[in-house]
Amino acid sequence: MSAAVAMQATRRRVKPSSNGAEPEEKGELGQWGRAWEVDWFSLTCVILLLCLAPFLVFYFIMACDQYQCSVSQPIIELYSGDVTLMTIWDRSPSFTWPAAKIYAIWVSFQVVLYMCVPDITHKFLPGYVGGVQEGSRTPAGLINLYEINGLQSWIITHALWFLNAQYFHWFSPTIIFDHWIPLLWCTNILGYTVATFTFVKAYLFPTNAEDCKFTGNMFYNYMMGIEFNPRIGKWFDFKLFFNGRPGIVAWTLINLSYMAKQQELYGHVTNSMILVNVLQAIYVLDFFWNEAWYLKTIDICHDHFGWYLGWGDCVWLPFLYTLQGLYLVYHPVQLSTLHAATVLLLGLIGYYVFRSTNHQKDLFRRTDGACTIWGKRPNFIECAYHSSDGGLHHSKLMTSGFWGVARHINYTGDLMGSLAYCLACGGGHLLPYFYIVYMTILLVHRCVRDEHRCSSKYGRDWRRYTDAVPSRLIPGIF
Ligand code: NDP
Repeated sequence: MSAAVAMQATRRRVKPSSNGAEPEEKGELGQWGRAWEVDWFSLTCVILLLCLAPFLVFYFIMACDQYQCSVSQPIIELYSGDVTLMTIWDRSPSFTWPAAKIYAIWVSFQVVLYMCVPDITHKFLPGYVGGVQEGSRTPAGLINLYEINGLQSWIITHALWFLNAQYFHWFSPTIIFDHWIPLLWCTNILGYTVATFTFVKAYLFPTNAEDCKFTGNMFYNYMMGIEFNPRIGKWFDFKLFFNGRPGIVAWTLINLSYMAKQQELYGHVTNSMILVNVLQAIYVLDFFWNEAWYLKTIDICHDHFGWYLGWGDCVWLPFLYTLQGLYLVYHPVQLSTLHAATVLLLGLIGYYVFRSTNHQKDLFRRTDGACTIWGKRPNFIECAYHSSDGGLHHSKLMTSGFWGVARHINYTGDLMGSLAYCLACGGGHLLPYFYIVYMTILLVHRCVRDEHRCSSKYGRDWRRYTDAVPSRLIPGIF
């Protein structure tokens, strides 16, 4: 359907009334945001995840520490009776005060950079959007302001890291690797504290009560969050801080620490380690360069803040997104030139698809469709929806560029990049491939979740969009 026809159709359908829409259509357009009610399947998944996820992280890290990254060997030994769970537990390093000190300094430093150093990088980096920026409209109709200074924090942190490694020698560049399992304890303490604090805060002193969702089920509320944008004061935003820093700033430092450990152990750094460092650094830098765009993603626009985001950002992300580098410390794989070039190409193509798709949507939404996509004015379907205060709003769904190829091809690009990180580790063990398995589950689930939400939000307009762009991730296949 052409843009003009689509726009006409929408205009006909949504006539202004006392609250801005035809009453019989309000129910269809009304609900958006996360679920109000929990079915048994979701509840079972939530309880399983709450119980199992921390042990899964421990299992992978312990498998590297005690079994040279073999994920099957601990199970074989447990099954044959060679070890017991207690033996494995006792052999693992425990909580230590030096690790707690390192972690406390790290998190405090990131809080200071986030809260006390207003962004100046946007003043001299052409094209970079930083400083105070507006988020999307919340379900209750609010628009929050955010201080975007993640790129600056990343630059300062990494500059200090390099200055230390080159000149100051306050600490060893392998410090993160050397305290890895004790740090796992510390991140868990912070992750659970943050999740519990925001859970209690939602009942006692929510930042914006109209944006809270209570399902009546404590586990679901704890995991998926109640508050939409919990804040302390005007500027400390839990979602923006915990998602970006300390987790994502740490990602590249963790990889650098693995690289330093390889150098220390073997006297050289392998090309696979360099590839993992470079490809993941591109992804991290892209995130911070586009932090203002991140305000428009599902994490900020639709997810509530609970254990899923709080614990996930503190523990899951830094430990499991960096498994490739950890693996390469134990298995220093040197790839053939052809293998390395293929991995690099796959990673770069994936990044191109991921970035271009996200950029196209951002440009389209920022200019309200007054832009060019692939050299032409974009086609779109105009949509209407209601916020929970009953207000009628309008939006557009683009059907041009990558958004006309598949409805979530940005996820496909992300998956190609993820596969490249894994392939950089060769075929010796399964452990580094956990990432692509996890990302596939995450992004397919996210795609289904997002489409369910968009369908509730836009109703018939969303069905017109899915008719125009039938594939989700892979054109003609899925
Ligand atoms: P998207 O950026 O794809 O945003 C989806 C939203 O975009 C929809 O809810 C809808 O929001 C809007 N939209 C959907 N279709 C269109 C269209 N045709 N035209 C205009 N707007 C549209 O999703 P995410 O926020 O999940 O992901 C952002 C990026 O982050 C992705 O590239 C993803 O790969 C990456 N990511 C990475 C993760 C990781 O752990 N590494 C985790 C999650 C995401 P609206 O209500 O505004 O219409």
